[in-house]
Amino acid sequence: MPQHRDDVVVGAGLLGLAAGRALAARGRDVLVLDQATVGHQGAGSKGGCRIFRLGYPDPEYVRAARRAAELWRQLEQESGRQILISTPQLSFGAGLADVQLAMQQAGAPCQLMAEREAAERFPGVRTGGPAVLEPESCVTAADTALAALAAAVPDLRTGVRVTALADDGRRVTVHTTEGDITARSAVVCAGPSSRALLAGLPGWPAIPTTPTLEQVAYLRPAAAAGPAMPIFIRHGGDESYGLPVPGTGQYKVGVHHGGPPAGPDANDQRPDQALVDQITAIAAASLPGCDPAPVSTERCVYDNTPDEDFVIDQVGNVAVACGTSGHGFKFGPLFGEWLASLATGDHAELPPGRFKLSRFG
Ligand SMILES: Cc1cc2nc3c(=O)[nH]c(=O)nc-3n(C[C@H](O)[C@H](O)[C@H](O)COP(=O)(O)OP(=O)(O)OC[C@H]3O[C@@H](n4cnc5c(N)ncnc54)[C@H](O)[C@@H]3O)c2cc1C
Repeated sequence: MPQHRDDVVVGAGLLGLAAGRALAARGRDVLVLDQATVGHQGAGSKGGCRIFRLGYPDPEYVRAARRAAELWRQLEQESGRQILISTPQLSFGAGLADVQLAMQQAGAPCQLMAEREAAERFPGVRTGGPAVLEPESCVTAADTALAALAAAVPDLRTGVRVTALADDGRRVTVHTTEGDITARSAVVCAGPSSRALLAGLPGWPAIPTTPTLEQVAYLRPAAAAGPAMPIFIRHGGDESYGLPVPGTGQYKVGVHHGGPPAGPDANDQRPDQALVDQITAIAAASLPGCDPAPVSTERCVYDNTPDEDFVIDQVGNVAVACGTSGHGFKFGPLFGEWLASLATGDHAELPPGRFKLSRFG
């Protein structure tokens, strides 16, 4: 492999692929490396689907999600693949008012519904109170999204582990299991392993991320199948969520931040019975459209920050994006633009300052 590049991206999950694509689109000679394969079992980006929503309790996130939607649509056009599948969403729970306000402030369409109205329109979900209908939500075909991003990365090498980085102020040396590579810049998108890769690099503060091993369950429709299920998110309380799985008839349910602490390479796929029981109870109480007994489960690592805001920052010739805290997928191509702007210094589309590491003091 060539020993000098413009940019080396560490990690070929959602963020690394998006960064690689955005850098290549800027004409850079970029190499993306992953220790395993795209979408492998232990990656946070694996699996078939994610929720794309505009609804956040903060208008800056709502605006970012709207921009990300534009970029996903561009990727759909370029790749000829459908990534966002339009699906109505019901949001409810104690945090609802903040979500509705932020959406209104950012000019995102949303509609407040009484509990009864929501039940009439979406009998498969019990909201237990008023709900906001988010008409621009989508199910993201996550595996298709990864494939489309990967196809736009000219040089992607899997099975190559980055063991260390060094930055002498002029260039970066990337030490790998296949030899050293020098580059004008490195972009670290190694999920929960980013923290260890950057620890000790001069000028870098500690990255306070902690992984957890989350679990989702897949449910089949109730015996008396009704109208199509919407996406749902409960803001507050058990922080549960659900979405239809494209092309399967199944419904995926999870609990945001429900899993135990884990190591950065956690990959134990055995179901956690306590989490299975919790999801079964949520389905029995709130999802009359589903049979509450899961047909299967899946485990997946969250890379968490203390405040659930992402980490996107740069010191010298090294940039990082990690700490996506279980809600990063929807922003995929926008992460790419932000990182390419940092790495090239073109400042075309910079990340919000709230994602800098200096916020941790
Ligand atoms: C159960 C679950 C549900 C989710 N639901 C949603 C949702 O509905 N909506 C949403 O927006 N987001 C959701 N997310 C979050 C979203 O999936 C993640 O934020 C995103 O996929 C993280 O991508 P990443 O590229 O940072 O990490 P990863 O996909 O983990 O990629 C990191 C890559 O770096 C590689 N790597 C690590 N160390 C090295 C090294 N030293 N050398 C080379 N390669 C290395 C790894 O092999 C890995 O492939 C969910 C996440 C989970 C787990």
